[in-house]
Amino acid sequence: MRWSGWPSTLPVMKIERIEITHHQLALDPPFPASWDPRPRERFPATVVRVHDDAGHVGIGSGDDMAGFEAHASLFVGEDPLDLDRHAQVLANLDFLGARPWPLDVALWDLAGHITGEPIWRMVGGESRRMRPYASSAVLREPAEMVGVAERARDAGFGALKLRFGRPSLDDDLEAVRSVRRALGDTLELMVDCNQGWRMPWDVRPPWKVGQALRVARELAELGVRWMEEPLHRGDYGGMARLRREGGVAIAGGELTRERHEFEVLLERDCLDVFQPDVVCCLGFAALRELAARVRERGHIFTPHTWGNGIGLVANLHLTAGTGGAPWLEVPWDPPEWTAARRDFPLRAPVEPDADGWLALSDAPGLGIELDEERLQATRSERATYR
Ligand SMILES: [Mg+2]
Repeated sequence: MRWSGWPSTLPVMKIERIEITHHQLALDPPFPASWDPRPRERFPATVVRVHDDAGHVGIGSGDDMAGFEAHASLFVGEDPLDLDRHAQVLANLDFLGARPWPLDVALWDLAGHITGEPIWRMVGGESRRMRPYASSAVLREPAEMVGVAERARDAGFGALKLRFGRPSLDDDLEAVRSVRRALGDTLELMVDCNQGWRMPWDVRPPWKVGQALRVARELAELGVRWMEEPLHRGDYGGMARLRREGGVAIAGGELTRERHEFEVLLERDCLDVFQPDVVCCLGFAALRELAARVRERGHIFTPHTWGNGIGLVANLHLTAGTGGAPWLEVPWDPPEWTAARRDFPLRAPVEPDADGWLALSDAPGLGIELDEERLQATRSERATYR
């Protein structure tokens, strides 16, 4: 069944083929992301293009679509506008294997090209713009973190997210204290503890609730806007207790896979800020509904987004279009992490406008253009960090 929001007069097209390419941007010197014990030598991107038989193309990106090719025939020949059906098939594939959600993004982009609608309007049309927060990545000395914060403020960001993960928790806390002392209230601060997920080679145990509670109370004293992923993603009781006793808002759910898991997070009052990334979790239709549920409960829906510019734009459409979020995450930590690196698949990097907002246009779908030459120059057999 086609999505009911569209006129019945739209012609019926067919999905003709799905094209998946891998790319790697060399990073020299390697990029030391706080949440990855191995410095990253390459920035991978997998680009999904879905073609219909009328010449429209939809674009998506996210995980590497491992194992997807064997299932492409489930989509070829189908009506591209049957988005709910496609999302259900993708949910089945997600349950059985890797995260295939870049195809959902590409299908929504394609639907936008067929109907002429931008995705921010397809998901609700509440707004077409968001204020970005600078999401840092590198664990620096306190004085250097002050420099990052000043640069973020000077670049027009109203908020900055710091990372924890230094050898000593005191050093992590001192980084936040130093930024707060130097910049006062001129910048909102968030802290990501990154305890909710692990790279394959990272076998450290996540924090327990007692430790997280001590950190939460310190962050509350420092007026931190939210504490992100303080515990294992399944420690529902721990997160609920932190919310009750820690004095600081709790964020999480960036890679939570299933809708019923979000229901538990809602019902057990685990989170103030819900962060599922549309290129990794559930797709646009389900997250549009989840965003509404989250808002109804008085919480904030604002996705994780730490991939390339295609994912950033997809999450921007979702968050602006569903409304109600104060900030959207923007990976930014120069010189190691810049818009040029992050958005290498795009013709133009995503940059805030003169007022410091990320603004979307009336262009159909995602409204992006790929840099085909750059993609050709970065083609690779795989999408890995080495
Ligand atoms: Mg995070």
